[in-house]
Amino acid sequence: MVVGLGVTGQSAVRYLLAEGARVRAADSRVDQVVHAPWQAQVDLRLGAFDVDALLDGVDAVLASPGLPYDEPLFEAARQRGLPVVGDIELFARACRHPIIGVTGSNGKSTVVTLLARLLEAAGRRVALGGNIGTPALDLLAQPADVVVLELSSFQLELTETLACEAACVLNLSADHMDRHGSMAHYAAVKAKIYRNARCAVVNLDDPHVVAMPTGDVRRSFSVSQAADWAIRQVDGVSTLFRQQRPWLSAAELRLVGAHNLANVAAALALLESIGVDPESVRPALLAFEGLPHRCQWVAEQAGVTWINDSKGTNVGATLAALGGVQAPIVLLAGGLAKGGDFRPWGAPLAAVGRAAVLYGEDAGLIRNHLDGVLPIHVEPDLAASVQRARVLAQPGDTVLLSPGCASQDQFRDYIERGEAFIRLVKDGEVACPA
Ligand code: ADP
Repeated sequence: MVVGLGVTGQSAVRYLLAEGARVRAADSRVDQVVHAPWQAQVDLRLGAFDVDALLDGVDAVLASPGLPYDEPLFEAARQRGLPVVGDIELFARACRHPIIGVTGSNGKSTVVTLLARLLEAAGRRVALGGNIGTPALDLLAQPADVVVLELSSFQLELTETLACEAACVLNLSADHMDRHGSMAHYAAVKAKIYRNARCAVVNLDDPHVVAMPTGDVRRSFSVSQAADWAIRQVDGVSTLFRQQRPWLSAAELRLVGAHNLANVAAALALLESIGVDPESVRPALLAFEGLPHRCQWVAEQAGVTWINDSKGTNVGATLAALGGVQAPIVLLAGGLAKGGDFRPWGAPLAAVGRAAVLYGEDAGLIRNHLDGVLPIHVEPDLAASVQRARVLAQPGDTVLLSPGCASQDQFRDYIERGEAFIRLVKDGEVACPA
């Protein structure tokens, strides 16, 4: 039985049918799969879960990543002794290509996208997916020399036999605490990516990652200490060192921010661990512009730079963005806090913040956590916040949308939020040409 019929659940249904399984498919939303071509081939159960009726006759349960791990249906299945697995587990059992796995609280999409570009530049055929773009099970049909998987903690939680050729936990900061409960549990889930991995790429700056069990083959990156790939300051410019030798200046990259240099280091370490010479892909690295909605340059108006970091959906992501863009900064933040603690923003905002403009459901919570740190304005929504930022920002400032929160109180997702921001900023361009 496949539970949850979003993009991933549907890929699992197609895969299982192709493998000759008899499939029951369940989703609590009645209008979820109206046009799915496989509808007639499955025992489709839409609407509120009737646990016993759903589980009767089932041999195993495939849980979609969007559902809570402790969903009563899954608990009941476990009590009956039924395996409850995720799509990555099925993928791991079937995949015959080397897999590079990447997880972490922040930077996953940037690293896997960059890594895929670099591998392609080195002449490898790459299948990229998982928690980004194509669901993993759909990758099985793609011709590939190597599979690059972005993995969420939700996916790792329900995976047991994945054996990556190279694996990396980029970093760990509090996110989804509403779901994972404790940092220790969150870290234990992320650490599963290193199980059975031939080479572990380790961020030496993150104590949670350093403490994770890995095999003997490790490659490292760091912004603070000696590592296979290390970032140091040379004449005031961040420089990437490979085995103690300067290899690349951050000034040559199109990517913005110190955190992105760490992402580059992680991608290069992963690349090396599957035997590709980083030197051979240097032009592709220099050409990489990053992904939209991640510290993305939007406009310069009257000397003020506007940056869209709508994908900054947790406390740690916004911290990285605050350290990566030109100060003074007017920060736009807010939305759904997911149990986040915003006090870590206090020190950097005191240093680089001109003001914070907060909006959305948890604006009040963030304001309380930042009390007394810098001038704070609370607005009802993003549009009003952009208006407010126009008044507050002075020439030379950066206005940074890095909400530190999920978007779903006012938007469909971070993409809609980022696009709305870009429109609001550009509309201002038309209304008051600088
Ligand atoms: P993910 O796929 O893990 O969500 P993204 O590459 O989409 O990661 O980036 C999400 C946000 O996280 C970005 O908006 C950026 O502000 C922040 N970020 C990116 N890389 C890092 C990093 N290495 N450390 C901390 N924050 C980061």
